Amino acid sequence: MTKHIFVTGGVVSSLGKGLTASSLGRLLKSRGMRVTMQKLDPYINVDPGTMNPFEHGEVYVTDDGGETDLDLGHYERFIDESLTQASNATTGSIYSAVIAAERRGDYLGKTVQVIPHITDEIKRRISDLATEDVDVVITEVGGTVGDIEILPFLEAVRQFRLDVGRQNVCYVHVTLVPYIGPAGEQKTKPTQHSVTELRSRGIQPDIIVCRSDRRISDGLRHKISNLCDVPVEAVVNAPDASSLYEIPLVMHDAALDGQVCELLGIDAPEPDLTDWTQLVRRVERAWKPLRIGVVGKYVSLPDAYLSVAEALRHAAFKHEVDLNIEWVLSDNVEGLLVRESLGHLDGVVLPGGFGQRGVEGKIEAARFARENGVPCLGLCLGMQVMAIEYARNVLGLDGAHSSEFDSQDFTTPHPVIDLMATQRTVTDMGGSMRLGAYVARLDEGSQVAEIYGETVISERHRHRYEFNPRFRTRFDDSGLRCSGTSPDGQLVEFVELEDHRFWIGTQAHPELKSRPNRPAPLFDAFVGACLARAEELDPARFKVNSDVSVVADSTVTS
Ligand code: GLN
Repeated sequence: MTKHIFVTGGVVSSLGKGLTASSLGRLLKSRGMRVTMQKLDPYINVDPGTMNPFEHGEVYVTDDGGETDLDLGHYERFIDESLTQASNATTGSIYSAVIAAERRGDYLGKTVQVIPHITDEIKRRISDLATEDVDVVITEVGGTVGDIEILPFLEAVRQFRLDVGRQNVCYVHVTLVPYIGPAGEQKTKPTQHSVTELRSRGIQPDIIVCRSDRRISDGLRHKISNLCDVPVEAVVNAPDASSLYEIPLVMHDAALDGQVCELLGIDAPEPDLTDWTQLVRRVERAWKPLRIGVVGKYVSLPDAYLSVAEALRHAAFKHEVDLNIEWVLSDNVEGLLVRESLGHLDGVVLPGGFGQRGVEGKIEAARFARENGVPCLGLCLGMQVMAIEYARNVLGLDGAHSSEFDSQDFTTPHPVIDLMATQRTVTDMGGSMRLGAYVARLDEGSQVAEIYGETVISERHRHRYEFNPRFRTRFDDSGLRCSGTSPDGQLVEFVELEDHRFWIGTQAHPELKSRPNRPAPLFDAFVGACLARAEELDPARFKVNSDVSVVADSTVTS
């Protein structure tokens, strides 16, 4: 029988509920269990695909083309499993299913209600993940206990225990224990209130994870245990960690996984955390200073580029790089400001995006990197702007652009990026994109083939526009090589500039498949190229620290 863990959050949002759930997933997987994860989101959008990144952060894309919550990225990075769109259900998608069933007459004339119809649909989404090859499903309930829109989810989760048996369900509640400066004390009252609220919905937590900015004392844990009716061993403290990848180790030290196994009657060995511990060591030891700029228009909310940042960090861990990501607002990268905003960087990433704002700045950044030998990695829109830049400034195609940016006042004479004929007729905003994993074939002997170490690869996509095949030979002949395409050769997936250390763009989003212990190949090679260039240009920067590193290394190994 599959076991279920439900993770709820109280007191405030952004507590790291997703990271707590992911860390627990990692620990159970390291005990040999087959784990999958799911996020229930209480908003009415059918999926986050149409939401502005400022609203919701990055849209994470699964292999099967689901546009999902960014927490799925944490789940995949921590449990190292590829999830599907079934791992994310929103209020909107649940209501859509119920209303469609009602229209079909499936309810045989009954009054359709939140209980039982919506709650049954929520339970169905949870049960769907409990397949034969899964030992544990971890379901994170989005939002905060006390929100109006979370109620049907809590009710469904409450009923679920009755449906599948007490011994198969565990409730984990994540709360905040704030430190009140003037009083010099940590306070348990918000936790008490939050647990009371959860209980008023019929759920008594089995485990309380207390987030805090500093350790909480055993005395406080006893207090919470006493007032919230949870054994003291099940009051788990998770103080802020210096790196998110440290959280599984912190949770294990606090015996979170042990508690869960005991509650669910899981007889599993202690987790093998060798790889994870090595990863955390690498994070701590990274010392080579590198500045990489991410040039985008949502940079004031770095969550909008979460997977890009994580993929850069994964590559940095591997190269022992102490990475400083500079968030450069693309709107500002113009004219005289180009050198000022980019001149000090060791590398430039041009991430994905939609819409006109900031595009010219990205084009300028691509040019600056090309002309100055600065490594540059273009992702989706990033690749498209590289093609546009090259068309304008090298091929002499004045006004070259993507037809995405055509308007009443301007139609590009050279649409080097364009809609494919099949996409022109689609009107549903959610249905007109190339979404999910697609296979690409890389040219033998190309830079990208060498980077991937193979010529057939698969990466995830999320875009409408494509490199326009009409212009392809002109690019190929002039040194910007279309070095990877769809298997039928029709769609350009990778471009690379000859005679440049690293000026590579991909139509895909390789950041989505990067893992902390296995950086995405393009990011790995990109950070390697940035480092090699910086070491050549500025050896002193690495020299001083290399002595420090030798000392640090010997401390770690001794
Ligand atoms: N806006 C571009 C397109 O639709 C790029 C999308 C992206 O960067 N994800 O093709």
